Amino acid sequence: MTEQERKYYEKRGRVLVKNLKSRHFDAYFCPDRETALQKALELIPQGASVGWGGALSAQQIGLMDAVKAGNYRAIDRDSAASAEQREALVRETIFSDVFITGANALSLDGQMVNIDGTGNRLAAINFGPKKVLVIAGMNKVADSLEAAVQRARTVAAPMNKMRFPNQTPCEVTGTCADCKGETCICNQILITRHCRPVGRIQFILVGEPLGF
Ligand code: SF4
Repeated sequence: MTEQERKYYEKRGRVLVKNLKSRHFDAYFCPDRETALQKALELIPQGASVGWGGALSAQQIGLMDAVKAGNYRAIDRDSAASAEQREALVRETIFSDVFITGANALSLDGQMVNIDGTGNRLAAINFGPKKVLVIAGMNKVADSLEAAVQRARTVAAPMNKMRFPNQTPCEVTGTCADCKGETCICNQILITRHCRPVGRIQFILVGEPLGF
């Protein structure tokens, strides 16, 4: 990254932290992935059960590996030996102490937009885990809520769909066609505009691009 990009992310990150706090989220800006990992581990209590979903950015800062290696009870659906066990772990995640996830987009005024295929991630963001920890690169930030929804639908969702190739229009053209196929991954769209209980959702904004 150039020095200008670093400054750009930092200045917008400071504004976004203030705006998230005005909505009763807890929020921190970290200039790079190393400090973000350190902050995330400070925020997760020792011994906590920790689940995750839709957390590529958290994976990129090394948080999943640190949780699995640390004094936590990691609920890792990818460790399942069967489809049944995987589903049981996904359900267990809903009752975890800490749920780690990412954001498909954020608006500079402090709102988060996420899209889900099956809804398990959105369920955990809404209710269940005592704490939700969102790791988001500053590349996810749009100037308005409308632009954030647009980003989530036309950038994040088509890129995410490339991970599960099974014939949707966006896989062919790279562009969302607002499809209605059985394999569509855009089945729920959640806007999280405020945090209740106060501080339940915590953001770590990272001053470099993460995820998509
Ligand atoms: S084409 Fe369908 S699956 Fe792809 S981004 Fe649009 S709504 Fe989602």
